[in-house]
Amino acid sequence: MIFSADIEDWQQSVYDFDRAVSNRVLFNTSRLLDILAEHKVTGTFFVQGMVAEKFPRLVKAIAHAGHELACHSYTHRRLYDLTEAQFRDELHRSVAILEDISGEKVIGFRAPTFSVRDEYLDWYCDALKTEGIVYDSSIMLATVRSCYGFNDDGILQRIRERGLDTYPMSVSKLLGKNLPVMGGGYFRLYPYWFNRWLARDLDRDTSVFYMHPYETDTHEYREVSKLMEIPQKMKYHQFARRGSVAGKLHQLLRDYPFTSFRDRYYSNCRYAPTTASKL
Ligand SMILES: [Zn+2]
Repeated sequence: MIFSADIEDWQQSVYDFDRAVSNRVLFNTSRLLDILAEHKVTGTFFVQGMVAEKFPRLVKAIAHAGHELACHSYTHRRLYDLTEAQFRDELHRSVAILEDISGEKVIGFRAPTFSVRDEYLDWYCDALKTEGIVYDSSIMLATVRSCYGFNDDGILQRIRERGLDTYPMSVSKLLGKNLPVMGGGYFRLYPYWFNRWLARDLDRDTSVFYMHPYETDTHEYREVSKLMEIPQKMKYHQFARRGSVAGKLHQLLRDYPFTSFRDRYYSNCRYAPTTASKL
């Protein structure tokens, strides 16, 4: 299975794009690095540009531990809220920051909130290729609260026709419908046994698991609710069962073999940053 994590700060990436990135992302990502080290697992870290810019040593620590660095945009604004020019600017900036810090070529991209849509697929794929991105991991093959997702897998072919590899999130069939599994809120909210049961037919080598380090942060609600108003619905949706995630993660890492996209698919490829400094 592919292990992937989106490195972002909840207060900035979910609550308010205009907030500064908080220190919590440091502690939360460090906790994740420790858990992965304990299980000798390496994965792909999709790092948001604003986080990398503020905490370059965190980026170095991720790379130093053997994980793949990949890009998760700059501000975490959804693609449908950006113009083509804004997206290209965000992408260029965030890839450049990661490559400057690490000296490694970034070849993977995950769009914020899986916000890829057909209407801008042409410029989306072209922008990625222009920055030397080789693969996309932004597709959810299930529609979720009409916010994101695709009902069928034709989108994968449409991306491949535009010259990129693409690796969708894991889904499982339940009552005739695709249900997201092995990731994010689904992994957090479901009991572990239910996650495993849903994942019983997944390919153990190629399926994708994803998470956010903030999902292991059990103190964040107490801290941020002093500073900002958190609507009741958001409280449940974003904070429920965070206390269960670290334990489930340990179990998951014991039960499945994990690797990164780079090591699974591109270990024989040589990629180098296009310039010494792109900033
Ligand atoms: Zn994200």
